[in-house]
Amino acid sequence: MLDRIKDRHDIDPERLIADSAYGSGPMLGWVVDRDINPHIPVLDKSGRTDGTWSRADFEWDAENNQYICPEGEPLKQFRRNYSDPNRGPSGKGVAKYQALKHTCQACPSKMKCCPKADARKITREEHEDARQVARDIAKTKQYAISMRLRKKVEMLFAHLKRILGLGRLRLRGPCGANDEFLLAATAQNLRKLAKIFPAPQQMRKA
Ligand code: SF4
Repeated sequence: MLDRIKDRHDIDPERLIADSAYGSGPMLGWVVDRDINPHIPVLDKSGRTDGTWSRADFEWDAENNQYICPEGEPLKQFRRNYSDPNRGPSGKGVAKYQALKHTCQACPSKMKCCPKADARKITREEHEDARQVARDIAKTKQYAISMRLRKKVEMLFAHLKRILGLGRLRLRGPCGANDEFLLAATAQNLRKLAKIFPAPQQMRKA
């Protein structure tokens, strides 16, 4: 769709509004790589339900490639300097960060952080930078406006499906679908226009 709108109308969108179905890491990475601001809720399954601190409670320190825990201790990916950057304890597309065992053992917040492990570990997915871009955007006023705009569009689709009965098409093939959607969209626009410009009241005869 982005390529098509570029070819046909020479439009390079600055932002893209979508629902959380588009909030996966690879999708956000793809959008950010194209210099588009993702106004998309981030799909994040790193939250914890047992009351212990989740990844969001740890601060990301990009300059030093490490997380800082709420107690101010670093969680590092490598504790040694590897000459080959591909070596070391990292999985494919996922980087693992770990605090020092003796630090966590002596930490007063251990029960809130990693009650069952010797030391706290955190994973960072490949597209975490793009996810962070989306998270930062989600705190802005513009994002709140975007979400309202998204709902407006979704309401139109819901109206097409529920009220105008387009859950199922009657005509066959792409041309039939095109005709049905064109008529339905025309009806929607007429309905909108009727609301914006109400018909003048008829004068009642005495
Ligand atoms: S348990 Fe370890 S990682 Fe967690 S807060 Fe304490 S020092 Fe930091």
